[in-house]
Amino acid sequence: METAGPLSNFNMKLISPWLAWGRQALGLLSPPACPACGRPAGRHGLAMLCAQCCPRIGARPCCQACGQWLAATPMLRISRPVRCRDCRPLRLYFERARSLAPYAQAWRQAILAFKTLPAGDLAYQLAALCSRFIRAGYLTGSWSRIIPVPHRPGRTPHAAHLLAKKLADRLQIKFYPKLRFQRRTAPQHTLPRKIRLKNLRRSMTWKGAPLSGEACLVIDDVYTTGATVNECARVLKAQGAGRVDVLTLARSPGPNSLEQGPGRSN
Ligand SMILES: [Zn+2]
Ligand SMILES: [Zn+2]
Repeated sequence: METAGPLSNFNMKLISPWLAWGRQALGLLSPPACPACGRPAGRHGLAMLCAQCCPRIGARPCCQACGQWLAATPMLRISRPVRCRDCRPLRLYFERARSLAPYAQAWRQAILAFKTLPAGDLAYQLAALCSRFIRAGYLTGSWSRIIPVPHRPGRTPHAAHLLAKKLADRLQIKFYPKLRFQRRTAPQHTLPRKIRLKNLRRSMTWKGAPLSGEACLVIDDVYTTGATVNECARVLKAQGAGRVDVLTLARSPGPNSLEQGPGRSN
């Protein structure tokens, strides 16, 4: 029978510094684990995320407003309408929305892992990718506020909040999480696309100082119909924001998108 009690506690106290040292030494020898999936991260230039989880960030032809990815038609670029078929019927309150990559495959798994347990390490890696996306010029602006999409009452911890905070630190822009839900709403992913806009109407309120002409960057994890970020932008514009841009980690394909993949969230 195992001995338990004061003696075994004493032994653990004695050997734990050695165990910690041993783990550290092994860590130096083995490659770091990908914070999203736990596979060896290796070194491939971008971040500590493994090669599978790290999205390919690059130029893709997209709708100038909502960021929906479109077919590459270089010869017709001049005649292409500014807005795509998905967002043309909608009243958009934001100027531009962009996403790093489609919400599919390993990138989707990485984001789901982050949403389930928004940990500092992964937030840091994802913020680094967002910062790289901005620095590469895929979404440009001189924002004075970074604002996360608010979390729903009773839902913590919140991925968008942590991501926006890390990104604001990196870009040296004021983090200003002053949007709040003022009433309960049905989870967006349970509703058909057409109902999602109605579900969120007048659901948010602003707890900060008025935004006198300031440019704001709204951060969320996944863009699906854009209903959530559009409601955020509506509130910000009502508070005097000059322009509102949106950055999300991923984008679910719209009905007229070329990209195919599963969709959830907002
Ligand atoms: Zn990974
Ligand atoms: Zn569009």
